Amino acid sequence: MKGRVIKSTGSWYLVRLEDGTLLNCRIKGKFRLEDEKLTNPVAVGDEVWTEREPSDGTAMITELLPRRNYISRQSPRHKQARHIIAANIDQAFLIATIAYPRTSTGFIDRFLLTTEAYHIPAHILFNKLDLIEGNTLRKLEAIEHIYRSIGYPVHRLSALNQQHLEKLVDLMTGKTTLLAGHSGVGKSTFINAVIPGVQQKTAEVSRVHHKGTHATTFAEMFQLPGGGFVIDTPGVKEFGLLDIEPSEVSHYFKEMREVLDKCRFNNCLHVNEPHCAVKALVEEGKIHEERYRNYLKILEDCKATRQEQYD
Ligand code: GDP
Ligand code: ZN
Repeated sequence: MKGRVIKSTGSWYLVRLEDGTLLNCRIKGKFRLEDEKLTNPVAVGDEVWTEREPSDGTAMITELLPRRNYISRQSPRHKQARHIIAANIDQAFLIATIAYPRTSTGFIDRFLLTTEAYHIPAHILFNKLDLIEGNTLRKLEAIEHIYRSIGYPVHRLSALNQQHLEKLVDLMTGKTTLLAGHSGVGKSTFINAVIPGVQQKTAEVSRVHHKGTHATTFAEMFQLPGGGFVIDTPGVKEFGLLDIEPSEVSHYFKEMREVLDKCRFNNCLHVNEPHCAVKALVEEGKIHEERYRNYLKILEDCKATRQEQYD
């Protein structure tokens, strides 16, 4: 039967079949060899074919359907390897907070670089609205302005007080939404608010099947009551840099991408080259200084990563 992987711990895969039943599967050995650069051959969100072994009732994933897209990060153990966080994603919600904890624009911009590179529409959700007042409110407005003017949808909410959730639920209905954000910003609270009772269910699953494994560091997919799925990515601190050339970085900054053909040099890195359209817009205030500073930082990291790979 066909199904979708909703949880994985590296050796076990929990698959939700089309009729709604959950099946705990292993994968056939051959999957492991297909792409040596991937540390996990099957990821949360993958569509798969499964088969039950008549003799002992165990189940296997026998086939992986082509992915529409996926998000990956560098494997913590092998620099050259990629770990797929989730696949077949319609949109990404980044949960951010102005305070308790503070999400930096650097973090937001790294996330947006990733979603741009994978062509996944991104929304920014500012949570803990109930804690915001005075100074922090002005900060929130300033940051919202940066991202709105680039064209990213920005939302405010309080997951704890269940404020402003309806519109977000509407946006998620019928879609697969990847949820990301620093630990402590309220991802679990948000999931509990939009899927009542979900916590209990996941606890059951992990008790039975994932004893002694690091279940919390893996992405997990939850079904929304009105249809659609949310993928939580606990423990994913940074989506990390993709394997990209330094000259590609500006292609993933939406407001820079639009003017790149106007730079004199087509390999312009927009640092100190003459006749640079990006820098001109920064000076005119049309590209936000903070975005530009974050761009420069990401560019430096990207160069360093490249260097490491050649060393
Ligand atoms: P996660 O690490 O992203 O999953 O964050 P949690 O959902 O565990 O939330 C971390 C802490 O922030 C918890 O103590 C939550 O109760 C709290 N929290 C989450 N959302 C809100 C909110 O909207 N307002 C306030 N005041 N606290 C919140
Ligand atoms: Zn330039």
